[in-house]
Amino acid sequence: MDQFAHANIKQTEPFESRVYLSSPTMHGEELRYIREAFDTNWVSTVGENINRVEQNIAELVGRPKSVALASGTAALHMAVRAAAVKLYGEPDPALGALAGKRVFCSDLTFAATVNPVLYEGGEPVFIDSEYETWNMDPAALERAFLRFPEVKLVVLVHLYGTPAKLEQIRAVCDRNNALLVEDAAESLGATYDGKQTGMFGDLSVVSFNGNKIITGSCGGMLLCDTVETMDRVRKWSTQSREPVAWYQHRELGFNYRMSNLIAGVIRGQIPWLENHIDCKRRIYRRYAEGLKDLPLTMNPYEAGRARPNHWLSCVLIDREAMCPQSRGEGEASYTPQPGKSCPTQILEAIAALNAEGRPIWKPMHLQPIYSRYPFVSAAEGLDAGSDIFTRGLCLPSDIKMTEEQMDRLIAAIRAVFENTPV
Ligand SMILES: *Cc1c(COP(=O)(O)O)cnc(C)c1O
Repeated sequence: MDQFAHANIKQTEPFESRVYLSSPTMHGEELRYIREAFDTNWVSTVGENINRVEQNIAELVGRPKSVALASGTAALHMAVRAAAVKLYGEPDPALGALAGKRVFCSDLTFAATVNPVLYEGGEPVFIDSEYETWNMDPAALERAFLRFPEVKLVVLVHLYGTPAKLEQIRAVCDRNNALLVEDAAESLGATYDGKQTGMFGDLSVVSFNGNKIITGSCGGMLLCDTVETMDRVRKWSTQSREPVAWYQHRELGFNYRMSNLIAGVIRGQIPWLENHIDCKRRIYRRYAEGLKDLPLTMNPYEAGRARPNHWLSCVLIDREAMCPQSRGEGEASYTPQPGKSCPTQILEAIAALNAEGRPIWKPMHLQPIYSRYPFVSAAEGLDAGSDIFTRGLCLPSDIKMTEEQMDRLIAAIRAVFENTPV
């Protein structure tokens, strides 16, 4: 009896140290490369760590050329700019390389995927998701090309580390002579038909932000095929200095290069990528197993074709099992119902354990800054992205989480549906 009561108290106690959604996991080698940079005084934006990271990531993905940059966002900006210059010629620096041009963009993503379109004066058109991968729906993309046949650029994300339907997306782009920018910020190490994400875009981007599968604390990389593109992006990202004795500028410049100290952290993390993916996959499978008879599904992928890196484990609650939930522009509320739940209620239960979940990324066409741009789905009235946002959530996916912590999180989610306090 005593023992039982004790176990029960332990069950409801929050975790002593917080379990994060996805936080950096360091291993020690990182410090050696930082120290090397220090000891040789290569602490600026040139050095051996940068060279190695550029080489290693290009090799890992299978792409001939790469440029290490300050962030994934900077890399996306450079990718979009390079694509735009190729399509539309040299830009008016004040108007941007996309001045007035429409660009098809993933709708269900983080804002960093699409912001560079605005940086360059372009106009995003948001393309809805499908339910098999939660990524850009090839049918919606096809439909968008019928409505806006002039469009020549597509920006595609692999959300939560799950590859999009790459063969179909690539085919639609090719049929319409459009370039593809691949935002693989969340999907480093994921493959599609045995090829790494980052191999499918005309230009591709990865991120080493603190929450990504491997990290430099920050940092990003552009991946491309030609030395011309690589050199152009290197030049833009180092203030567009002309190769003359004084500061001479013909083009708009950016200060976007990666630091050699940051590159040291990334260099130390690269050998751990596969290990991190294994840990993330185990987390995904443990949730899938632990939650399998509840009225919800895990974030899906194309089995047999896609090998996600499982950066974040997510769930989507069945329509019939949703209790009433309302979300404004800042706050959310819900009405509990027996046997049912909603993301807001589950996130509360997760937070009560001192763990971090998160709603699904809010679709771009629902964002105040982006609501005035067109949104195209596979059929009139369809809006898969909003539906996934309403019924889905990201579960704590940190690879330092213990199995015991996972089991308690699973029990807490089960309790929400069963309406019994844990
Ligand atoms: C993190 C992220 C980015 C931006 O990368 P940063 O390195 O943080 O600038 C872009 N797109 C997606 C989908 C991301 O998750």
